[in-house]
Amino acid sequence: MIIIKTKEEIEILREGGKRLATILYKVKEMVKPGVSTKDLDLYAEKLIRGIGDVPAFLNYRPAGANTPFPASLCVSVNEEVVHGIPSEEKILKEGDIVSIDLGLKHRGLFTDMAITVGVGAVSPASQKLMDVTEKALQVGIDAAMGGNTVGDIGHAVESFVRGQKGLTYGIVEVLSGHGVGKAIHEDPYIPNFGKAGKGAKLVPGMVVALEPMLNNGTKNVTLDEDGYTFRTADGKKSAHFEKTILITEGEAEVFT
Ligand code: MG
Repeated sequence: MIIIKTKEEIEILREGGKRLATILYKVKEMVKPGVSTKDLDLYAEKLIRGIGDVPAFLNYRPAGANTPFPASLCVSVNEEVVHGIPSEEKILKEGDIVSIDLGLKHRGLFTDMAITVGVGAVSPASQKLMDVTEKALQVGIDAAMGGNTVGDIGHAVESFVRGQKGLTYGIVEVLSGHGVGKAIHEDPYIPNFGKAGKGAKLVPGMVVALEPMLNNGTKNVTLDEDGYTFRTADGKKSAHFEKTILITEGEAEVFT
């Protein structure tokens, strides 16, 4: 069921999104060679608690999961696509690319955001992968106008990615964007591929998280035994960007 947010809820989500983005960009500043993925997680949690909010992913148990997620931040390095579990043993090194994905609960309502960051200097291919993924998110946001459909977003993202000259990226299909607000994952689910005009209609007051995931190779992914970490089937790198947005009658408003 798609939930249309009230004016008051939108106000809370707008503030929550602003807080979330501020925190995620602070965590980004900490991404350097020698830092562990657990260091990033603990810093994110500290910042969230410091402003009186709640980390949304910590102890979150998605449908079908056997164990709750054990951290505040998802940290996915290189060939890991999303939902990487932070670890003291996992140390970032020069040339890695790392997706940091954070959910925040502010006054009972949720926002969700992710960015992919290079660790020190990265290869031109890695930089291009991140740049195209970030642009794909923007293309999706541009398509998320009131009156359009979920399929219009997927179609726009897919067309943009397929139109990259000389580059063939795998668009991850088994994971998608989603409604957000009352829960961290709500209807509608928003694939990063699709047919124009198909799917649920975008209505003002809907709040959704768009999150393209692009692989520098096959679209296929595998799930680790930890039940969370998705990685590319061919071991090539993957990038991920996500923002929470409000559907309006015109251009979407970005909350994060
Ligand atoms: Mg999400």
